[in-house]
Amino acid sequence: MSTSYEIIDHAYDVVVVGAGGAGLRATLGAAQAGLKTACVTKVFPTRSHTVAAQGGISASLGNMGEDDWRWHMYDTVKGSDWLGDQDSIEYLCKHAPAAVYELEHWGVPFSRTEEGKIYQRAFGGMTKNFGEGPVQRTCAAADRTGHAILHTLYGQSVKQKAEFFIEYFALDLIMDNGECKGILAWKLDDGTIHRFRAKQTILATGGYGRAFFSCTSAHTCTGDGNAMVLRAGLPLQDMEFVQFHPTGIYGAGCLITEGARGEGGYLTNSEGERFMERYAPSAKDLASRDVVSRAMTIEIREGRGVGSGKDHIHLNLNHIPADTLAERLPGISETARVFSGVDVTKEPIPVLPTVHYNMGGIPTNYHGEVITKKGGDSDAIVPGLMAIGEAGCVSVHGANRLGSNSLIDLVVFGRAAGLRCAEIVDPNSPVPETPKAADDFALQRLDKFRHASGGTPTAQLRLAMQKAMQENCAVFRSGDVLSEGQQKMGRIHTGMTDISVTDRSMIWNTDLVETLEFDNLVGQAYVTMDSAANRQESRGAHSREDYPDRDDTEWMKHTIAWYEDGKSIIDYRPVHTWTMSNDISYIEPKARVY
Ligand SMILES: Cc1cc2nc3c(=O)[nH]c(=O)nc-3n(C[C@H](O)[C@H](O)[C@H](O)COP(=O)(O)OP(=O)(O)OC[C@H]3O[C@@H](n4cnc5c(N)ncnc54)[C@H](O)[C@@H]3O)c2cc1C
Repeated sequence: MSTSYEIIDHAYDVVVVGAGGAGLRATLGAAQAGLKTACVTKVFPTRSHTVAAQGGISASLGNMGEDDWRWHMYDTVKGSDWLGDQDSIEYLCKHAPAAVYELEHWGVPFSRTEEGKIYQRAFGGMTKNFGEGPVQRTCAAADRTGHAILHTLYGQSVKQKAEFFIEYFALDLIMDNGECKGILAWKLDDGTIHRFRAKQTILATGGYGRAFFSCTSAHTCTGDGNAMVLRAGLPLQDMEFVQFHPTGIYGAGCLITEGARGEGGYLTNSEGERFMERYAPSAKDLASRDVVSRAMTIEIREGRGVGSGKDHIHLNLNHIPADTLAERLPGISETARVFSGVDVTKEPIPVLPTVHYNMGGIPTNYHGEVITKKGGDSDAIVPGLMAIGEAGCVSVHGANRLGSNSLIDLVVFGRAAGLRCAEIVDPNSPVPETPKAADDFALQRLDKFRHASGGTPTAQLRLAMQKAMQENCAVFRSGDVLSEGQQKMGRIHTGMTDISVTDRSMIWNTDLVETLEFDNLVGQAYVTMDSAANRQESRGAHSREDYPDRDDTEWMKHTIAWYEDGKSIIDYRPVHTWTMSNDISYIEPKARVY
């Protein structure tokens, strides 16, 4: 069954999809450059997941001791386990201080040192002098850094007269002969369909943590932009790399920031032992997240977990003075009270590694332009399309992201995308016309789900997918477990032919929104599982028990995966082993020693 929809047409120089930190920074940049800019978002801007970021934003300001962007770059390359593109990493670390000062001048209320400088805390994997010892590099607004950034950027974007389309759900990209010419969106509160034609479309739609059962991300983190890219016949990159944060609250999944360990918190097992001293003698509790998550999983597996089920770990903050906790970590003190009934000044918090961040996403260069592999060119630009933030894979995080390196990625590459638009978009040229076939493609999919009358509710299939991902694509992986996961995903894909949507209306139809989001998640879950099964080595967050070593000869390359009707097609792109300038040379791979 199909319905004919009236389409409301809009024309812009730049359309940004997403109003998290990345989307708002790009919106602000494009609007500042005098381009007619729209920002389309399914939730109110300040409700984007960025609002939940607690710990902070990294930049080598050197406010709490000497620091250098080259040291930041070294740490980020090492954290990425040599899968990150070093030209992009140089761009990130070099531009980070300016991007933070810009936020400060726009009004982000950073915490302050005694002398009034931006306060910086220690975070995992951040070191001085190329790995010598910890450095305080993570700028913080108490433990509400994302909240502060998002509110500031929204205010500034409104000031620059960017136009916001709030609670519009982007359905699909408008593609024409391999070029992107905008998006089609559904206005959730009145059911109308909108066509946004644009000279540049920027996807800033965030991660897809909700493909997993236990994650720290919001329910809205369904990677819609990634899925639109897959449907447009373009690949996603490095999807096997999923970060588990060591300290999600046991049972609830809510995050306790790494900043808690940065302020002196530590983990213990059932014997009260500070076990991280054994696994990472120098970095200890501030080793990178993949290392800490694996150590916790081993402790639990070997019977040293805490609680009646011996299935979690304790995070201790009770030795930290109560007034420091109140000043530096007020938000997480409250989260621990509400979600685990714990008074952090007196008792440890029960925690467990929980899905937190997707290193994989839409491949881009450091201008934010989406790239694909075409013929012999593995960096071929897709005209008209950009991707930034957690949706993008520029690849600065490679196989594993360091804490506080995402917020800086949002603003540095959001800014880069705005600058690129200013360079390549001519405000006086006409906005392109779009083919009707692109509208039909998006609306047929909408109709397919709107009128779906099978016997299986979306929620049931979604749960099966989330459990399959949690059980078969977890902290430790093996060929057998992943192959079982692939079979489960096959059954879920087949099950989708029997999906049931009960509400047929177009106004606030949450049943239909959730089904579209679920469909988006399935493609991403597929390529994640398949890419993980395909990569026969251990690198960063991807830890194969059957291939425990990193294999630079065979596997120092990006996975790119296309998705076609329940099948992934896998290929590779070389890692950029060159830097952007002569200010620093390529950082040679080192063995994994923590
Ligand atoms: C609990 C938590 C704490 C974190 N703490 C830190 C930290 O301290 N430091 C750090 O560096 N990183 C942290 N991270 C990671 C970091 O916050 C995220 O990676 C980052 O905020 C993602 O930002 P984004 O702009 O890419 O997307 P998001 O903030 O997720 O925003 C996505 C946007 O896309 C829009 N959108 C999505 N789909 C559609 C659609 N179909 N149609 C229209 N709009 C759509 C949404 O409305 C939203 O505006 C944390 C993450 C979590 C979950």
